[in-house]
Amino acid sequence: MNILSRVVTSGLLIFLLVVGAGCSTSSLFTDKPYKETQFLMDTIIEITAYGNGNEAGVKAAFAEFKRINELTNRFDESSQVSKINQAAGQEKVQVDPDVITMLKLARSRSEQLNGALDVSVGALTELWSVGHKGEFVPSDAEIKALLPLVNFQLIEIDDKANTVFLPKAGMRIDLGAVAKGYADRKAIDALKAGGIKSALVNAGGDVRIIGKRPDGQPWRIGVQDPRDSEGIAAKIALADWDVLETSGDYQRFFIKDDVRYSHIIDPRTGYQPREIASVTIVAKADNNVDILSTAMFVLGVEKGQQLLKQYPGTEAIFITTDGKKIITPGLEGKIEL
Ligand code: ADP
Ligand code: MG
Repeated sequence: MNILSRVVTSGLLIFLLVVGAGCSTSSLFTDKPYKETQFLMDTIIEITAYGNGNEAGVKAAFAEFKRINELTNRFDESSQVSKINQAAGQEKVQVDPDVITMLKLARSRSEQLNGALDVSVGALTELWSVGHKGEFVPSDAEIKALLPLVNFQLIEIDDKANTVFLPKAGMRIDLGAVAKGYADRKAIDALKAGGIKSALVNAGGDVRIIGKRPDGQPWRIGVQDPRDSEGIAAKIALADWDVLETSGDYQRFFIKDDVRYSHIIDPRTGYQPREIASVTIVAKADNNVDILSTAMFVLGVEKGQQLLKQYPGTEAIFITTDGKKIITPGLEGKIEL
């Protein structure tokens, strides 16, 4: 897939349905939104904020996205993640505390999920290169040869000295599933620090909000139909939740001999999971749900639903590759399908 089509598909991942304007007397509502869109982290980032200081808040939020991208971009040889990968099997690398935090966040998730989510999947994502130059279907032998390099337990993280060491040559860290959500968090922190009370950050499907829209209505999000780039599969109002996260097989993928190969790999097998076309979760930010959608994409509907029981108040919409839509009980009556 070329850059342009990726931009287009990423942009379509989430529709923001701004509805119901024009009927409010709220003073906040008379303020104009400040909205900016940038292409970063391989996707379209869109930040909207209302109220005093909104422009400065949005700029500060984008600065966080740029900073986290510079730390984690594995396609940039000078990023800290690239430095860690280049030093695999040789030496530890000193990194920014945010890189340590992301790695520890991922590690705790991996422990909980027996490795369905594993940031050391990088050797495999690099081999497949889905959505990037050189994407192809590797041989079974090529895949199996890399599996010993994929094991989050091997990553040596020293959170006092802020160093990371990959003990085996060829090991690769890929923070693709972690960095966007983490940057979202940091962007929200920056907006709040600037006094913003109403904002929406949408990083190609990872959405976080502050408060309500200025007209008092909740922010409404459309979830893309994974098999129709112009269709909406569900509409949801973020009244009870302030985080929405989607993982799917339709944003970065290629098709070879009628088989779809997506960018999410099961670290235990080296191949793409095939049960789910897209999974969206909604949650309270306090629930620390980061990277759950990627994990659920790998685990499938049944295990994914079981996992969610550990996160009360967190709900999910699964759309399977055979076209079924499955929602968790807490979404009954709160979602338009
Ligand atoms: P998106 O990038 O569309 O938001 P995700 O957040 O689910 O999707 O992240 C997918 C990215 O995470 C992949 O592009 C790859 O970089 C990385 N990745 C793929 N499979 C895994 C996995 N099993 N565990 C951790 N990271 C993964
Ligand atoms: Mg994501």
